[in-house]
Amino acid sequence: MLILVLLISIWFGCAVAHKSPYKPTIRPRQTPQPEAQMWEFVKGGFSRKFVESKCTDEQKERLKSAWEDAKLIIEAQTNIIAGYDYDLVHRTWMGDDWDARDTPEKEGWGKIIEDNFARIAGLFRGEYGKSEEFFWRYTPEPDDDLCDDGKMYANNYYNLDFHLSGNHMHTITFCPPYWSLETIGEQIARHKDDEMGQMNMVNFVATTSHIMLHEIYHIKLATQPQTIDYAIEYHEALDLARTYGMEFTHVNSDSYTHDAVAIYLQQTFKSSKPPTRLI
Ligand SMILES: [Zn+2]
Repeated sequence: MLILVLLISIWFGCAVAHKSPYKPTIRPRQTPQPEAQMWEFVKGGFSRKFVESKCTDEQKERLKSAWEDAKLIIEAQTNIIAGYDYDLVHRTWMGDDWDARDTPEKEGWGKIIEDNFARIAGLFRGEYGKSEEFFWRYTPEPDDDLCDDGKMYANNYYNLDFHLSGNHMHTITFCPPYWSLETIGEQIARHKDDEMGQMNMVNFVATTSHIMLHEIYHIKLATQPQTIDYAIEYHEALDLARTYGMEFTHVNSDSYTHDAVAIYLQQTFKSSKPPTRLI
């Protein structure tokens, strides 16, 4: 059953509008007041996903397609294939110390990363409680304050009011720039015969599935503690991993997201190395 009342939410900033990559972005927000007729059940896959009714048919299909792409990307990250070098990718995006367990702190961070991989794999298999619901919200106005004056691709919030309804509502708002993004399939097609290009992450940024996955990696069904945005975009995520290692990457959404995309791309292209930054 859909909820009619939202009161106070926590809002997690995201994507392109971030001013400082090393500042967390959690802050309290008032959320819009959704009404039951605003939402349509998303058919296919598993239950409890809803899309805002005012999305066009094309936008609804785009969101469903992005979800399917994101599911494939997470399966690449979390379904272990014998012989694939996961260590190289995890070192690149989570830090050289990603599997170190020689101090209590590293043991704790490493356990969080392992648990988060398992958690998001379960999420995409539909293994979560019946009280968890996903809402995909379309924002037509560029100046919607959840879109930071139109500079963001997407955003998410989680309402604290679930005790009134018994449900947990995970809402992702897609902002106007989102609808002109490429799919990862389009970027893969462009570089299918470009061996050097396949290993350069600059060619695989800001896709519909990456932005959706970035937001999903913020929600508590995927990460505990929930990630924030210490570093966004591939070059900042790389620098975060190299400079701080998993002390910061274990709570940074785009570290997990790029790690997943890199594995998916290397396995798709069957390239000799995963994509990273090429100087
Ligand atoms: Zn974010």
